[in-house]
Amino acid sequence: MKSIVPFISSLPKADIDQWLKVLKKKLPKEKIVKFSNLKKTDYHKVDVAIVANPNPTEVKKLENLKWIQSVWVGVEKLVESFRGEKVKIVRLIDPEMNRTMSEAVLSWVLYLHRDMYFYRVQQNKKTWKETDYVKPSNKVVSFIGLGELGSASAAKLIQNGFNVCGWSRGKKNIRKVKSFTGELGLKKMLKQTDILVCLIPLTQKTKYLLDYKTLSYLKKGASIINFARGAIINEKDLIKHLNSEKIKHAVLDVFEKEPLPKTSTLWKHKNVTVLPHISAHTDMDTSSSIVCKNIKMYRLKNRIPKSVDMIRGY
Ligand code: NAP
Repeated sequence: MKSIVPFISSLPKADIDQWLKVLKKKLPKEKIVKFSNLKKTDYHKVDVAIVANPNPTEVKKLENLKWIQSVWVGVEKLVESFRGEKVKIVRLIDPEMNRTMSEAVLSWVLYLHRDMYFYRVQQNKKTWKETDYVKPSNKVVSFIGLGELGSASAAKLIQNGFNVCGWSRGKKNIRKVKSFTGELGLKKMLKQTDILVCLIPLTQKTKYLLDYKTLSYLKKGASIINFARGAIINEKDLIKHLNSEKIKHAVLDVFEKEPLPKTSTLWKHKNVTVLPHISAHTDMDTSSSIVCKNIKMYRLKNRIPKSVDMIRGY
């Protein structure tokens, strides 16, 4: 008899149907069902669920659930919802996501490096004026977070001739990447940074990590890219640094409130580029293959894939 694997999600119906279609195709030996179609009498039979923005109360009804497979990379909401519970959270790790993110990082680093936003503004004023060109070999791009996404992106920048630094919890040994750890390490790294790329998970330790004081360690005229989560940066503090031109430009793809409210001053700030959370999408094809492979391996070897450390929060 097939085991039941519910897909628990608050996404729009069309998205849920698409996920169900692809999961059913790739996991023919499992009975994949939408949570609303799962019979109450079957709740106790479920040991693994696939989730995409689930309602936690639905998940908690599954009393024998051992692990949750998320189809997203970032799992801060799941961590908050299941703190102290025995269920394990497995997040998505997908080389295709790493590739897409590294492409976005390279694109927006070049946007800042070659002053593209500046020339756009100049054109509006019909101004013909060059900015100074600085070679990538004379620029330092630093990463806050050197995990899956940070390290893939760092490699792409090295290929493009930039000097690369990275800050993480543990020391890293990545070719040509200067590794920093700890509070002092962060300060040292920021002091030499021209472009800062934020790719760190949102946890209790990283919320508002980049506040007024920390941002003030950056080199004068540095720029910042946030592709992680809005709440890593204290927005009001960032605006103060942008207004004083201590920070030259910010490319922001993520915000504490999304969509960014129409009333936000960020929309019209001359030194801010607003993106609608587009730096790297989950690819349904590759991610569903990874999710299905994890479930197949679990059935075969009774081994839950590497799960989130609930104390660290990532
Ligand atoms: P990951 O592989 O878990 O890497 C996280 C990195 O952050 C690691 O290097 C880790 O250090 C470091 N870190 C975490 N907490 C730290 C702390 N308190 N102090 C110092 N370093 C710390 O995560 P990932 O796959 O690269 O993803 C990063 C984040 O990107 C996700 O959590 C998600 O929020 C975001 N994201 C955004 C988008 C988008 O479209 N905008 C798409 C996907 C993901 P160690 O290596 O030492 O553990």
